[in-house]
Amino acid sequence: MNDLPLLKEAQSLLDDVAQLRRAIHREPELGLDLPLTQAKVLDALQGLPLQVRRGQRTTSVMADLRGSQPGRTLILRGDMDALPLQEDTDVAFKSSIDGRMHACGHDAHTAMLVGAAKLLARHQQALCGTVRFMFQPGEEGYAGAVIMMDEGLLDAPRGGSPPQAAFALHAAPRWAPGTILIRPGPTLASTDNFTIVVRGRGGHASAPHMAADPVPVACEIGIALQTLVTRSINVFSPAVLTVGKIQAGTAANIIPEVATLEGTIRTLSPETRAKMVEGVQRMAHGISAAHGLEAEVLHKAGYPVTVNDDDFARFVLDTGRELLGEERCLEQPSPQLAGEDFAYVLEQIPGAMASLGTRPFGYTEGDAPNAHSNRYLLNEEALVAGMAMYAGVALAYLKE
Ligand SMILES: [Zn+2]
Ligand SMILES: [Zn+2]
Repeated sequence: MNDLPLLKEAQSLLDDVAQLRRAIHREPELGLDLPLTQAKVLDALQGLPLQVRRGQRTTSVMADLRGSQPGRTLILRGDMDALPLQEDTDVAFKSSIDGRMHACGHDAHTAMLVGAAKLLARHQQALCGTVRFMFQPGEEGYAGAVIMMDEGLLDAPRGGSPPQAAFALHAAPRWAPGTILIRPGPTLASTDNFTIVVRGRGGHASAPHMAADPVPVACEIGIALQTLVTRSINVFSPAVLTVGKIQAGTAANIIPEVATLEGTIRTLSPETRAKMVEGVQRMAHGISAAHGLEAEVLHKAGYPVTVNDDDFARFVLDTGRELLGEERCLEQPSPQLAGEDFAYVLEQIPGAMASLGTRPFGYTEGDAPNAHSNRYLLNEEALVAGMAMYAGVALAYLKE
């Protein structure tokens, strides 16, 4: 068995891994408390030569596989949580829980990581050091990775050395299935959210001069924030600002007292991030004041920029090319402005996050439903490359 190339071995695990993925998909759980998912993972890891530890404050699972020789320790990470949205697909294993869906591929990440554990357990003899499997809850805004770090993720395994590197994969629904893309340096964005509350004075829609209407002011702020991006930010250090929610009023003939905007800021550098956060404050207060109204701005700092270590990313690229072939392991041309709490791990130790193409059958790059879509689909054939990649990176990193 040990002579087979990893891809073939991974292929032989696909049925089991796809079954696990479907079971997780059918029962999505949110946030930091994922008891059903945790139970499925623990059950699937049964019988493997792992040292398993469950989280205290979350339903995380940390499992160590010790090689035959001492050596370094590598973290392989898979996140397990779903999203609060209603699934609109007709797959047979569709979410059975209203208002929850695995629409970011975390079901697949978890299942692939289990597959990688099975694969690597077969190659235990060839490992020098420890592979630490990190099954993480709460990626979608709950910073579950930080809790796992608080609970010893970066501590040395028994008889080993503290983790020196970390590797993660994320499903990419628009890219060719089974393709790996990775980029040295910044690869995902920082994610800050803001809420702007514009306060005026309510009144009759026919007499705006006797009221202080927050609606046009909120609209003006919404537009001005887009100008902030194009006029204040260096185009080579990108920022995206999206106002995703505007709320005001109750009826056509009433001027409301309050209008609210909610949005998110994505950047790839701390400087641009700070400039955007400050700019939102300035615009909201300044524009409101110009109209004689007041604004309150609430800022909620999110995840930092996810920065791949240059050397580790190149190592992953080389490993992937050997494993999958040149044409299926590519350097990702540009970062993406989604965010990831794996960023916190990469602030502590070098490592990388790569994308795994999971484009569903019958779709093109342009029309495949994106992550977080209610119509999100995932091509399970891609799980083979994903498992092989997790295992291949670990085998190459822990070689002698
Ligand atoms: Zn997501
Ligand atoms: Zn995700």
